[in-house]
Amino acid sequence: MKYTTLNNGVEMPLLGFGVYQVEEPSACVRCVSDAIAAGYRLLDTAAAYLNEESVGRAVRQSGIPRDEMFITTKVWVQDMGYERTKRAFARSLARLGTDYLDLYLVHMPFGDVFGAWRAMEELYREGRIRAIGVCNFSIPRLADLMAHHETAPAVNQVEMHLFHQQRAMKEFAGKCGIRLEAWSPFAEGKRDFFRNEVLSSLAEKYGRTVAQVELNWLVRQGVAAIPKSARRERIEENFDVFGFSLSEEDDALIAACDTGRPVVGDFEDPGFVHYLCTRVYDV
Ligand code: NAP
Repeated sequence: MKYTTLNNGVEMPLLGFGVYQVEEPSACVRCVSDAIAAGYRLLDTAAAYLNEESVGRAVRQSGIPRDEMFITTKVWVQDMGYERTKRAFARSLARLGTDYLDLYLVHMPFGDVFGAWRAMEELYREGRIRAIGVCNFSIPRLADLMAHHETAPAVNQVEMHLFHQQRAMKEFAGKCGIRLEAWSPFAEGKRDFFRNEVLSSLAEKYGRTVAQVELNWLVRQGVAAIPKSARRERIEENFDVFGFSLSEEDDALIAACDTGRPVVGDFEDPGFVHYLCTRVYDV
């Protein structure tokens, strides 16, 4: 496994396993167990995914020492604000069955983010979270958060893949020492991702799969990736991405596929924002 060093010195694996849309408990325990057996140590869940308990169970069943795992979870919009975030954090820990988090993220840039961030800064200083970060923050929102707080986010987790390469964000985050983590690295399979011509031709050239070419391209840039799959053979395939390197010309072919627009979630669409802000999960 390769690691990236966060702005506070914490080492984060560059490849992790995402568990969005794996709600059914036995299915989730099985996928996470398969992922841990395949070698993944970073697990990416969220209170809103309703599967923190299953993730915690799979980690305990694996017998891997807690300090060898890197557990990320996220605080949802309904729990933004100082007091609410403190309570949401305690509930997430209880569901995961752990007494600290490796990474705690603001899931969406909505609601009382500043209140939530103050709570997270406190929990971080108390040693209950090893690193704190955000998801889906634009450049101005990152700049605003940093201008008003002592602790800069260690990570911004954003939609990032072949079609949405996040160049401006990458440059800004790089200057600020914020690591990017790519969610939906396969664009959730949308736009016929797994049959994309450029990725398919590179997969053939390097004797790899489309998924492996994409993940290799991300991690070689120092961007962490958290692919999701519910199938063991794909979980293993998605973990085997480090043993090769695309040439500069081939990287340029990928660069040319950037549309500069999201495929999965458009945070500039008021309808999408309204949907996220009014989505409530059961505590
Ligand atoms: P994704 O990883 O881009 O794509 C998952 C889809 O690709 C599934 O349909 C999966 O099907 C398929 N797949 C996986 N590996 C494959 C392979 N090797 N070959 C062919 N198909 C393959 O989508 P995602 O789950 O949305 O994103 C990944 C993780 O990012 C999430 O699980 C979550 O942890 C995180 N995330 C975060 C946010 C945020 O706002 N912070 C938003 C979205 C996602 P099967 O399962 O059937 O294999």
